[in-house]
Amino acid sequence: MNYSEKKSLTISFALFFLVVLISFLNYLSISRTSYSDMISIGFYGLAFTGMFVITILSNTAVREVKNEINEIKKMQDFDALTGSPNGIKFSRDCDQTLKANRDHRYAISIFDINKFKAINDLFGRQVGNEILTAIAQILKKHIRDDELFSRMATDNFSILMKYETYREFTLRIENLIHEINGYSNQFVVSISLGIYLIGDDDRELDVNALSDRANMAKCSIKDNSQVSYAFYDEAMRQLMIIENSIENRMELALKNNEFEVYLQPKYLFSDEKIIGAEALVRWNDPVNGMLPPNDFIPLFERNGFVKKIDTYMFEEVCKLLDKWKNEMNQLADIIISVNFSRLHLDNLLLPEELSEITSRYQIDPKMIEIELTEGTIFDNDAQMIDIMNHLKDFGFNISIDDFGRAYSSLNTLKNLPADILKLDKAFFTESSDNQRGKKIITSMLNMAKDLDLITVAEGVETKEQVDFLKGLGCDIAQGFYYAKPMNVIEFEAFVNKKLKSA
Ligand code: C2E
Ligand code: MG
Ligand code: MG
Repeated sequence: MNYSEKKSLTISFALFFLVVLISFLNYLSISRTSYSDMISIGFYGLAFTGMFVITILSNTAVREVKNEINEIKKMQDFDALTGSPNGIKFSRDCDQTLKANRDHRYAISIFDINKFKAINDLFGRQVGNEILTAIAQILKKHIRDDELFSRMATDNFSILMKYETYREFTLRIENLIHEINGYSNQFVVSISLGIYLIGDDDRELDVNALSDRANMAKCSIKDNSQVSYAFYDEAMRQLMIIENSIENRMELALKNNEFEVYLQPKYLFSDEKIIGAEALVRWNDPVNGMLPPNDFIPLFERNGFVKKIDTYMFEEVCKLLDKWKNEMNQLADIIISVNFSRLHLDNLLLPEELSEITSRYQIDPKMIEIELTEGTIFDNDAQMIDIMNHLKDFGFNISIDDFGRAYSSLNTLKNLPADILKLDKAFFTESSDNQRGKKIITSMLNMAKDLDLITVAEGVETKEQVDFLKGLGCDIAQGFYYAKPMNVIEFEAFVNKKLKSA
């Protein structure tokens, strides 16, 4: 009960007792009081008693309404699952905290849980919720006076922390990450955290602008299993400007056929014949020249545009196979592989859509391989396996790209309906010269053979690698040792020349 409620209750009580007292005194002197005096005293008594009751009732009602308003405010400000402040409250408090503590240095950090969707899929939402709640508890423990944290959305958390020195601050961040990573002994919980050290000139900036910078730092290390936190720097801001300009131009570029198919030949180790090629996208940008995929595919993965690029590349490859079938018969046996981003793996209609395109160009789906990157594949993701099986039903071959990079267990392979295994180039170039690496590659190749998978070594650059891989029974080679990716005209001339010299 607040001060004014207490005051009105006290006044009501005082009036009530005054009336009771007057009534009692009147009663004692009843013989000297007239009948009408008695009635009016009784009337006043009743009126004051009524006032007392009404005051009590209205005080209770006001209190209830106030409680409800407080509850609603709480709901608006706090996240129901973890009890953490939410984004709205965080932004508001951030503003006030930064303004009220100008003599302190602050840093804003944003983090999310790596592969949180996979954790939910593998262990269930309940486990996912427990992790989020545990993280909120850990944050609460680490946050000091005049510092803030919040759960912004699903597995996204924000923190506003004071700092004195870079060293002291990174130690705190490392401790926090360490505690979150060690939360469960059942499975690995890891986070990617981006930090923006707020400068004196930035204090007037909107919290969203500060968060954007921390977010950029976070994105710079997303999917990097070696690093769990990163600071924002000016280079990142420049990158954002470049990415912004790419995003403004990408749709038009696709319409204008600025994306081109490059082909890198694949050779049989046994007789060094070209049996296929991988289609690799290049952006022939009129302003910036020929751009390699690493300049734009990671961005397109983030904004979803990669789906359009992959489908475009797939159709261009169909057109090419159609041309070779009808006009260049000597190339008609070449199988082309096309890269497909993981983003397609939630589209149950992908097999039908691709089959519709091959039918339109009357291409045998056997002439096309679908390359899916290992890191995106989980052996018990039922929907993904469904899509892969369905692609195979339509006659496409499936290749697991960059195998070895994401360190999945060899067992993963057993449950995947794949036809081809591409060993990651970094994996074998780094390790092929030591005994342990050789053992790993040997067991990978043996396992692949047991599973009837065709093996492709990509990134073959030296004669030693060729001899080594050939000796172990690897089937196909792709790499600069044989040929670099080239445009279609160059590829056709390259194959023709090789055929003539054979
Ligand atoms: P990837 O699918 O693993 O393609 C192989 C990459 O290795 C190609 O890089 C190729 O040029 C490079 N490479 C081949 N042989 C050697 C070698 O001997 N040494 C070295 N150092 N590198 C070699 P590229 O063309 O820059 O493509 C990079 C990545 O971009 C591809 O890796 C693939 O993940 C992605 N990508 C390319 N085109 C597409 C596409 O159309 N769609 C999607 N979703 N991703 C694509
Ligand atoms: Mg590939
Ligand atoms: Mg690859």
